[in-house]
Amino acid sequence: MLEGSEALPRSLFFEHCLLPDGWARDVRVTLEGGRIAAVEVGAQPCAEDARHACALPGMPNLHSHAFQRAMAGLAERRGPSNDSFWTWREIMYRFVDRMTPDDVRAIAALAYVEMLEGGFTRVGEFHYLHHDRDGQRFGDIAEMSAAVLAASGEAGIGMTLLPVLYSYAGFGAQPPQPGQRRFVNDLKHYARLLEGAEQHARSLPDAVVGVTPHSLRAVAPEQLRDIAPLLQGRPVHIHIAEQVKEVDDCLAWSGQRPVEWLADRVGMNAAWCLVHATHMTDAETRTVAASGAVAGLCPITEANLGDGLFPVETFLDAGGVYGIGSDSNVLIDCAEELRLLEYGQRLTRRARNVMARGAGESTGTALYAGAVAGGAAALGVAGGIAAGRPADIVSLNLDHPAMLHRQGDAITDSFVFAAGRSAIDCVWRHGDKLVSEGRHHARDRVVRDYAKVLEKLIA
Ligand code: ZN
Repeated sequence: MLEGSEALPRSLFFEHCLLPDGWARDVRVTLEGGRIAAVEVGAQPCAEDARHACALPGMPNLHSHAFQRAMAGLAERRGPSNDSFWTWREIMYRFVDRMTPDDVRAIAALAYVEMLEGGFTRVGEFHYLHHDRDGQRFGDIAEMSAAVLAASGEAGIGMTLLPVLYSYAGFGAQPPQPGQRRFVNDLKHYARLLEGAEQHARSLPDAVVGVTPHSLRAVAPEQLRDIAPLLQGRPVHIHIAEQVKEVDDCLAWSGQRPVEWLADRVGMNAAWCLVHATHMTDAETRTVAASGAVAGLCPITEANLGDGLFPVETFLDAGGVYGIGSDSNVLIDCAEELRLLEYGQRLTRRARNVMARGAGESTGTALYAGAVAGGAAALGVAGGIAAGRPADIVSLNLDHPAMLHRQGDAITDSFVFAAGRSAIDCVWRHGDKLVSEGRHHARDRVVRDYAKVLEKLIA
């Protein structure tokens, strides 16, 4: 059992509970071996039940670069030119030049503690920092992956590790730049890295390992072809069409836009997660929706980096599936990701309740349930509060002023739009209660470790 977690109660009782088919009253959830053994609706509480007001399923965070948490707020000063993603990336490269595996472990542990406190119970760690500071491989090629996995074990968050294949600096197999030396592998070494990561992942109860070509600019077409034997039913994640410059470069290189090129030349299906997919034509948007691939939306980071807005209405009308990710981790908060996803659309469409597609549908519930289902699918697990699924649960404090006298959809609407993470009470992960009254049980120790690393890196 994890340090600071509490003994497993046999059963939890919630007055209000968001189930896969909507809100229910008086729900007993029985836990066994890290999973939900049974869900009873309309139950009577028993003496042995741990009683709570309200439960939501844990939210999957489908896209994170944990180490970037350490530079949050340090790239908010205007540069000499028109500021953009590319100047942010230069600062990120300078920052990562100095990190050891133990630094990465301590920073990631802090990010994962904050994720659990913010309602996220599993993370898709899009992990591309593989080599030593001089760019040499470690003796164990998966040493950095092991550091990230150790951090998830320390915090107790569910881990879908996404070791990244990164080979080139730009479209047309441009040689990598010095700032990218810690990321770069050819496919042969990538296969070894994946195998090493899988071995390390066995030390965790339910870790998943996915395959992750970084982007169309960082891998070559033949690598996307030759990577096929490694897929074996694993989740496949890729950054795509995040920036206008990336779309322009792809057009100059191939005559096609990134999503168009991927659909034509490689293909995609429900195992794929297209991270960002911000800049798509209507035809591309409908192609992604029809393929079943999950759109990995990271509204806080996309706003912070000035990326643009995902074409959500066309995508949802075509039956598209999405989840949310905290990406750069500049701010870690599942309610705020959902709120910003909706507000971006409201501001540009001059309309309200855009993410709810049916008349009378609750926007908060549509956003929350949509992101749980899509996020879990992208991370290779099942989500939601139902028998057989992971015991990953978030409870809300209905005594919070913004939550008083709420029931049913008004709970999700008030959580997302009015209260945010300050209403989060407890978080269970794999059946262990890791957060109480909004605070992770290992927070103090993890923050102390993190502070030492920050002192070394930036003080
Ligand atoms: Zn990313």
